[in-house]
Amino acid sequence: MAENQKFGEKSVQILVSTKKQKTISRSFSITGKGLHYGKDTRVEVHPAKVDRGIVFQVFQNQKDLFIPTHFYHLHDGNRNSTLLKEGVSLSTVEHFLAAAWGADVDNLLVKVEGDELPAGEGNCSLWIENFNRVGYKEQKLNRVYYQIDETLVVGNCGKYLFALPSNVFKVTYFLDYFFESTFALCMTFSEDETEFLKIAQARTFAFQDEIQYIIQTGLGKGVKDSALILDNKGRADKSLYIQGEPVYHKIIDLIGDLMLLGRRIVGHFVGIRSGHSLNHQMVKLIAKKARLFDE
Ligand SMILES: [Zn+2]
Repeated sequence: MAENQKFGEKSVQILVSTKKQKTISRSFSITGKGLHYGKDTRVEVHPAKVDRGIVFQVFQNQKDLFIPTHFYHLHDGNRNSTLLKEGVSLSTVEHFLAAAWGADVDNLLVKVEGDELPAGEGNCSLWIENFNRVGYKEQKLNRVYYQIDETLVVGNCGKYLFALPSNVFKVTYFLDYFFESTFALCMTFSEDETEFLKIAQARTFAFQDEIQYIIQTGLGKGVKDSALILDNKGRADKSLYIQGEPVYHKIIDLIGDLMLLGRRIVGHFVGIRSGHSLNHQMVKLIAKKARLFDE
């Protein structure tokens, strides 16, 4: 990225890339069950103009509202990332946003009839397949990134998420079983070394101990047949698509959540037992450091 231009003296910089923005070549639509609530949702994904970002148009309760992908509309979802604006909410946006990151797409209009995006198998495959099917269109303007210029950290009590300076986007994630040392897994995804396609198939998971709670709270209905259930040794109830699949799913979640900044970010993220809550805290911290808002 030697030719990129940087601006500012802050711990999060604005970086104008030589890379052009992208959208999709033509629209597509799909209908599927939402990951948590299991209701059928119809989605149309359309190309969008430069600098629009990813904007959801949600049709819900006789309302029709545009919700941009932006941390400003972030609402603390239960085990997912939910956008909320003027009483209209859209849940489980993170896998779609991670797929958009992986497909290298910047601008989309996403029309949703419902309150949650279709889950597929609880991974990014559904979206990646559709993006690849309709193809991509390069746009005239250059892409603008944020870049981490000094170490940031959120978390406590053994759960942390770090953002470190790096010239490429990278995520390292550490997963174990509630601090009990019965297993530990650690994987790194680096955009210059690993195809996103490889990790896109990593399905959502839960630990056996959490299943009762998940059923009681009415979550996970749309993926109960495909989600991985892990025991306290990290063994899954189904054969894995890729080695380290649960860790790669946590990496997908983080990538999707980072898209809530409204543009991509360059840095090395290190998650230790982190999840949506710390991802959201990090997004807000980066936004603050980039002086997107005052606190
Ligand atoms: Zn997820």
